[in-house]
Amino acid sequence: MANFVHKFQSAIPLPLTDVVLKDVVKKAKDWAIMHGAAMRSKTKFSEDSIQFAPFVLIPSPFPKKEFYKAIEVQLFLNEMMHWVAHNPEFLLNCLKDAALSDEFTGNLYKIYRTILEEGVAQNVSLGLLRSDYMAHKDAGNRINQVELNTIASSFAGIASQFKSLNRFVLEELGHFDKVDNLPDNNALNGLCEGMLEAWKIYGKQDASILFIVEDITYNICDQRFHEFELKKLHPKMKVLRRTLTQIVSQAELTDKKELIIDNHEVAVIYFRAGYEPGHYPSQKEWEARLLMERSKAIKCPSIQYHLAGTKKVQQELARTGVVEMFLSDSYKIDAVKEIFTGLYSLDFDESGNKAVQMALDSPERFVLKPQREGGGNNVYGVDVKEAILQMKDKHERTAWILMDRINPPIISGYMVRPEGPDKPDLVDMVSELGIFGVVIGDPKSIMVNRQVGHMLRTKISTANEGGVAAGLGALDSPYLI
Ligand code: ADP
Ligand code: MG
Ligand code: MG
Repeated sequence: MANFVHKFQSAIPLPLTDVVLKDVVKKAKDWAIMHGAAMRSKTKFSEDSIQFAPFVLIPSPFPKKEFYKAIEVQLFLNEMMHWVAHNPEFLLNCLKDAALSDEFTGNLYKIYRTILEEGVAQNVSLGLLRSDYMAHKDAGNRINQVELNTIASSFAGIASQFKSLNRFVLEELGHFDKVDNLPDNNALNGLCEGMLEAWKIYGKQDASILFIVEDITYNICDQRFHEFELKKLHPKMKVLRRTLTQIVSQAELTDKKELIIDNHEVAVIYFRAGYEPGHYPSQKEWEARLLMERSKAIKCPSIQYHLAGTKKVQQELARTGVVEMFLSDSYKIDAVKEIFTGLYSLDFDESGNKAVQMALDSPERFVLKPQREGGGNNVYGVDVKEAILQMKDKHERTAWILMDRINPPIISGYMVRPEGPDKPDLVDMVSELGIFGVVIGDPKSIMVNRQVGHMLRTKISTANEGGVAAGLGALDSPYLI
C-alpha cells in the first residue's frame, strides 16, 4: 500500500505539540553542531565558526524496496561508468558537439584529447560516484535516476552523521521502536577506504593525498570528515588541501611524471573543486588541471571519468542499445535501464527536432539541463519553452539535454535551518536519495567495485532544486517503509 500513495505517511504522527517541537528542535540543533553535521555560513562567513547544516527533524519515509534496488544497481552503474570512461571513441563522439558549443565542456574535452594523444602516465582511475534518485509517483513510486556524479560527490562525510541525528530525535520523542527503520550508513568510511586503496596501488609510503578545494569552502565539515577519516585509517599519510590557483604556482612534474606539491609527492588527487567554470578563474587553472592529468598521481576523477559523468553522456546512455555496449549481463542491463527516465538529445537531427517540439508543446513535463554540476543550472516549467525558443536554431542547443520531469511523492515534515524559527512549520517536502559507489580500475580491468552508503536530501515540494547551501534543501535520513 505504502508504495503506491502520492503522499507518504510520516514516520511518526505529526504535528508535534509546540512545546515538544521547540524543545526537540533546540536539542537537535546542538546535537548537529556538536557532531559536525554543520557547514560554514554564507551570510556570516568565518573560518573560525560553523553552523549546523539545514536538516529534516523527523527522518523522511522512503520505499524500502526502492532503496535496496538503488543499492544493488550501484555495482552495475560503477561497472558501466568505468567502461564508459574507457571508451574514447564513445566519449569523444558523444561530447563533440557539446564541446564545440560549451566552452567549459570544450576545455575538459581538450584535456582529454591531449592526454589520449600523449598517452596516460597513470592507468588506474579512482571513481567515488554518487547516483541520485527520486521516487516517481506516476510510476508507482519507482525510483528514477536524476543524475550520476563522478566528480566531487559530496555529503558522505556529514550524511554519515544524519542517521545518528535522526535516531536521537526519534528516541527523544519516545519512538524507540522506529529506529530500526533507519538503515546503517558507512558512506564516509567506504569512500575513504577507496582513497586509501588507490594510495596503496600508487605504492609509495611517503606519498600524500591531495584535495583540490574551492577558494572558499562552505561544506568544510564534509571535507574535513574525509580528511580526518583518512588520518584515522592511516595516521602517517599526509593530506594536503590546495585550490586550483595554488596548484598553478606550487605544482611540479618530475621527469618521471611524479606530481610534487611543496616537496610532497602526490599519490591521489581528490577533486572537491574543478567541476564548474568559476573554479577556473583564468587559463592558468586549466593548465594546472592539465598538469595534474599528465602526472602519474591517481586522479579522482580522471578526466575520462569526469567526462563520463556529464549530462550528455547520461542522455546518450539512455538511447536504445547503448547500455548493452558497456554491460554484458542481461540482469544488470535490465536493472540499469529500469532506473532511467526519458532523456532526449537536442542534436540537429530527427530525434533532436522531435525533442524540441515536445518541449515547446508541454514544457512543464521536462527539465532542461546544460553540461554543469553543482546545482542551480537547470531550467524548469515555462522557462523551458522560453529557453528552447531562444536556442532552437543555434548550435548551443547541442550542449543541453532534455529530461522527463520526475514527480516525487510528498512528505510532511519539519525543516530546521540556521536563523529559522524556534518552532518550524510543518511543510510539504520531496526527497532525493544518493547512493555512493567506489570503483577502481584501469583500461583492462576493475579491481574494486563497491556500494558504500547513502545520503538523503529533502527540499520544499514547490522548489525546483534543493541546494542545501542555497537554502531550500536540507539533509535527512531515509526512514524505510
Ligand atoms: P547537478 O549536477 O547540478 O546537481 P542535477 O541533474 O542533479 O544537476 O539537477 C539538480 C537538481 O534539480 C536535482 O537535485 C533535482 O532536485 C532537480 N532535478 C534534476 N533533474 C530532475 C528531473 N528530471 N525531475 C525533477 N527534478 C529534477
Ligand atoms: Mg551533479
Ligand atoms: Mg545533482
